[in-house]
Amino acid sequence: MAEKIKNLIHGKWVEAESKKTFKSISPADTSEVIGIVPQSEPEDVEKAVEAARAAFREWALTPAPRRGEILFRAAETLTKKKRELGELVAREMGKVMPEAMGDVQEAIDMTYYMAGEGRRLGGETIPSELPNKDAKSVRVPIGVIAQITPWNFPIAIPSWKITPALVCGNTVVFKPSSETPVCATRFVEILHGAGLPAGVLNLVHGAGGTVGEAMVKHSHVNAVSFTGSNPVGEKLAALCGSLHKHFTMETGGKNPIIVMDDAHLELAVEGCIWGGFGTSGQRCTAASRVIVHEAVFGDFLEAFVERAKRLRLGSPLDEKVDVGPVINESQFKKILGYIEIGQKEGARLVCGGKPYRKGACARGYFIEPTVFTEVKPKMRIAQEEIFGPVVSILKVRSLSEAIAVANDIPFGLSAAVYTQDVNASAIAERDLDTGIVYINASTIGAEIQLPFGGTKRTGLGPREAGGRGGALDLYTKWKVVYRDFSGKLQRAQIDKE
Ligand code: NAD
Repeated sequence: MAEKIKNLIHGKWVEAESKKTFKSISPADTSEVIGIVPQSEPEDVEKAVEAARAAFREWALTPAPRRGEILFRAAETLTKKKRELGELVAREMGKVMPEAMGDVQEAIDMTYYMAGEGRRLGGETIPSELPNKDAKSVRVPIGVIAQITPWNFPIAIPSWKITPALVCGNTVVFKPSSETPVCATRFVEILHGAGLPAGVLNLVHGAGGTVGEAMVKHSHVNAVSFTGSNPVGEKLAALCGSLHKHFTMETGGKNPIIVMDDAHLELAVEGCIWGGFGTSGQRCTAASRVIVHEAVFGDFLEAFVERAKRLRLGSPLDEKVDVGPVINESQFKKILGYIEIGQKEGARLVCGGKPYRKGACARGYFIEPTVFTEVKPKMRIAQEEIFGPVVSILKVRSLSEAIAVANDIPFGLSAAVYTQDVNASAIAERDLDTGIVYINASTIGAEIQLPFGGTKRTGLGPREAGGRGGALDLYTKWKVVYRDFSGKLQRAQIDKE
């Protein structure tokens, strides 16, 4: 039965002012409506931003360890409800159960981790140049943060954004993807239920162009954190630049796995299978390009295609299923369009390539795991983010050529290399131009206690997750304090900046 969900504004669950709604549909079975969702307008955003603004000062003055304790309670509830939330993720977003449970686990880990950061929000005490003077830097919250998220990690990514923003003393207006509003609501309910004061966390559902843009443009929003596609992110970056707002974004990826001639081939095949086809290829870290040394190319290709053909498609709730649907009709058409483009460009389709409509998949957006070989580095299927179960395989003659091909794209999120050679792994680690590098593991599986984000057109601003050097830098600004207790004018002081 479809659930009727609401916005959260100033601690109250409310409909959109206009009373308009939209439906959240299961991508595995489009006859299943998961939720009826408020179709909000700028007037709803206005209320949410004002609630966040009104709550800011008191929340910022709440001791950070107390803020952390609320997050800790939320993490306890998330842990208790992990299975229920996992099933909701599988139904609403379509990822298979083990991955759906992993999505929730990431949110649990992040929420516990940020709870602890409440006791570590330190700056530095630095020696002054002058006698009887001290100098320190302190982290202060930024203010009202607008947070906009995609659908592919419907609970994990909201947790990556909301929990650090809150523990740092900011208040939040959150707009989740319209594809996964029920997952987002459940996460917000748990945070709210853990004891957040009214207005500290506000949730507004609705279309990106309406609700998202109204949030970004609002003069009382001090910072914007966005994860999603490049066209939207780049538009918002320009807007925030002109409005002088703090802005960070994490956007597209086209992540390579390099398989060297000395690779443990079975391990490499498994890594490429789960990196390429896990979450139906809809991870920002998905391994959509596999760059294989010519000496093992034939053996790798045979094993990889054989394994891809054995992947089971079906209901994400069925524990025996490996690959679920893609998210919606427009992604479904876009992916099939890229499969056509690949063939026209001269790549060879060796597996998959078609919609899959057997049995339980008849009413969903399923696409067969698809493999292209004879792919040239400059082909569109090797350069552009497809965000579906499509893997391009490229042949190279050396490690240096592999790294050059891996780097020759506009994105730089994640990369992996399979090799037994310690020197080759060191060179790859140094020269791959991505935010994350894996050695003898796939491009997926980031851990929340380390910074997450990409280079080039993937990331802008401080990284998400992690602590110092990551999310804490994203959601605080520095204040520097000098205190002169000499009781006299120190000449060197007034001669400086
Ligand atoms: P999207 O850009 O279509 O939407 C992302 C969010 O932005 C949604 O909430 C959407 O409603 C909102 N939005 C859309 N138009 C807007 C506008 N004009 N103003 C403000 N908000 C607007 O992306 P998507 O399809 O939800 O997600 C897939 C993309 O996300 C892929 O490109 C993927 O690589 C990327 N992604 C990146 C990371 C990362 O960390 N690098 C992680 C996950 C997903």
